[in-house]
Parts: sequence; structure tokens; C-alpha cells
Amino acid sequence: MKLTFLGTGTSMGVPVAGGFGREVPTGDSRDDRYRTSAWVQTDELSIIIDTGPEFRLQTLRAGIRSVDLLLLTHEHTDHIAGLDDLRPFHYMRRKPLPAYTTQSCIRALRTRFHYMFPPHKTPGSVDLDLHVLNHAVTIGDCTITPLPVDHTVMDVLGFRINDLSYVTDAKIIPKETRERIRGSKVLVLNGLRWDPDHPTHITIPEAVKIAEELEIPQTYLVHISSYVIHKEVSAKLPAHVQLAYDQLSIEI
Ligand SMILES: [Zn+2]
Ligand SMILES: [Zn+2]
Repeated sequence: MKLTFLGTGTSMGVPVAGGFGREVPTGDSRDDRYRTSAWVQTDELSIIIDTGPEFRLQTLRAGIRSVDLLLLTHEHTDHIAGLDDLRPFHYMRRKPLPAYTTQSCIRALRTRFHYMFPPHKTPGSVDLDLHVLNHAVTIGDCTITPLPVDHTVMDVLGFRINDLSYVTDAKIIPKETRERIRGSKVLVLNGLRWDPDHPTHITIPEAVKIAEELEIPQTYLVHISSYVIHKEVSAKLPAHVQLAYDQLSIEI
């Protein structure tokens, strides 16, 4: 299985529009972050996790040619705004795209993308075959297990795909979800910034503690703010926790 980080930035992206946040470019491409999204490739499936505002650019940059399965973590705009840019993949696929998410995200999609669904369906819009992921499902060569987490403002789903666990936009990871993550070879976890605490996101020191508690061999942090300078923060992390960066690909 191959995981490619399509984006690793927090909700405003990095750098932030208007010069808000860190204003001085470091010259390090790892400090430029599209909104958080990932591409998982297995022998049988091409899986997209979240379609943020840069989804089209991300597909071009990564060379994505097909999408077999969509996993959506939650309905915040930085995770779904690019849904329309699935259209070319839909035209090539010619059948509905299976998509798994929360009940609340499905409700939000039906409102915000009303033209994709009857009775407002616009010809040419993406056909999603929507499912609530309440329990583990096997699709092709993947077992996909829901990892419910608490964003404090909204329910969010992480996903365990075989030996990979992917959790973004969490503040609290419930005990039962931690047990589902345990045993993963790789954990992707949101790590917004070093400090201070944030009301809806895990900070980097909190993420390191979780990775240690769950004894995950390798953890990659995503959903990173503009105040995190890759080189500086990387130097403070233990070897088993790394900041992810856009276009990083790993084999699991
Ligand atoms: Zn987000
Ligand atoms: Zn969010």
C-alpha cells in the first residue's frame, strides 16, 4: 500500500491568504501546505481521503488517474470544497463513486451540493454512492474501519485502512477508537501547532503523547498551521513522529 500526502495544511492553507500568520517564506517547500488530504493506493484501489479546496491541483500534482473510493472525514469546508473536481474521474469511471462518511456529513453534502442529488440533480454532476461508515467494511483488498473522533464542534471520522490509521481534525480520541488504532504500522494524526492549546485540534506535543501511548512505529502529523516551520519543529520530535509534508509518499 502506498500513501501520498496530497496536502498537510490547516484550514486556511499555508501560507495564509493576505499575509495572515507566518509572513516570511522560509524557502523550504515543506512549509507550503495545501489543505489536508491523502491518496491511498493498493493493488486494487485508488482511495481519496477528503476533497479540499485544492483538490484539482492536488490530483494534477500527484498524477492521479482514477478514483475508486472516497472517504470523507467531516463536512468542514477545508475537507469537502473540492468535491466538484471529482467530475473528470466520474466521467472516466461511468458509475457511481462509493463514498463513506458520517451521517452528519451526508446531510451537509445534500444541502451544500444539492445539485448532485435528486430532485435537483444536474446532468454531469458527480454521482456519489453515499454510505455511513458505522462498522468495518471490506472493499477490494482493504478493510476499512471507522475511527470516530471528537473535533468538539462536530463528529469526525478517521479511517483505518489495513495497517494505516488516518485521523485528522480531532481534539479528543475516545478510548474505543484508540484501541482500533492500536497495532497500526503507520498513524497519520492531526498536529496543528506546538502551542498553545487549541479548542478543536490536537497540538503537536499532544499528538506525540498519543503516538507513544499507542506504540505506533511511525506517526506522521498533518493539518499543520503556518506557525510550524518544518525544519525547526522536526528537530524537536522523536524519531517515530514526523511532520508530513505535501507530496511525501510512503510505502506501508
Ligand atoms: Zn480541517
Ligand atoms: Zn474540521
